[in-house]
Amino acid sequence: MSDDASTRTALVTGGARGIGAAIAHRLSRDGFAVGVVDLDEAGAVATAEAITAAGGRAVGVGADVADEARANAAVATVTDRLGPVLALVNNAGVIRDNLLFRMSVDDWDTVLGVHLRGAFLMTRAVQAQMVEAGWGRIVNLSSTSALGNRGQVNYAAAKAGMQGFTKTLAIELGRFGVIANAIAPGFIETEMTRATAARVGADFDAWAQAAAQEIPVGRIGRPDDIAGVASFLCSEDAAFVSGQVIYVAGGPKD
Ligand code: NAP
Repeated sequence: MSDDASTRTALVTGGARGIGAAIAHRLSRDGFAVGVVDLDEAGAVATAEAITAAGGRAVGVGADVADEARANAAVATVTDRLGPVLALVNNAGVIRDNLLFRMSVDDWDTVLGVHLRGAFLMTRAVQAQMVEAGWGRIVNLSSTSALGNRGQVNYAAAKAGMQGFTKTLAIELGRFGVIANAIAPGFIETEMTRATAARVGADFDAWAQAAAQEIPVGRIGRPDDIAGVASFLCSEDAAFVSGQVIYVAGGPKD
């Protein structure tokens, strides 16, 4: 296997917007062909078209990562169009926040389903390609909420689960040249955090400014802050880094 990322394909879930779109663009600039998979098919295609317009190779595919048949089909489509998937970024995510006593079973199942079942299905679908190549990179999106966050018992459980999932992938796949790591972002400005502000009736800018005062580097995060770390974790330089959780939150987290 060549060390040249231009011979490799990456697949980014939830790549229609936000952090996933930033990661997809960054991996393209790093030389990967990029499969962009999202529930929002038009958004996935738009990200892929923007990558292509910038000189990269990309394909956009609509799929629910929590649906076994759709997840497998998305991997098959990306593989057919761009070649074996040797880097996978499990980024697709949803929030359904509520205090425990008000949380519905649907909201619990949806959040656990997209993050954990989705990451499991996508990873299971690509792992044989990585093992065959003797080279692979898996990046899972966790969150500082994995440490506990009021109103997010479902999301916190899912994001803590992503960390155990990641460490176990690292143990099982390391001998095949496949590394697995998790990124745990703090407050990143995306539609997800804008939706959270709207739901609690807060003005986003005032809310973000207040949050920034609590963050050691003095600002909230941007999707590119996460994309830079994902780029490293998909690179040759990360070859001896596996099973790690990297908090990208502008300061330390326990
Ligand atoms: P976002 O702007 O809401 O984007 C998430 C994307 O995932 C959307 O395009 C969404 O599609 C897609 N998606 C949702 N469910 C899906 C499914 N079942 N199958 C395929 N795609 C699906 O979120 P973001 O802020 O960029 O977050 C990206 C990741 O980072 C998530 O895992 C999130 O939990 C994590 N994270 C974010 C922050 C933050 O502060 N923003 C902090 C920590 C962790 P639709 O538009 O169709 O729903």
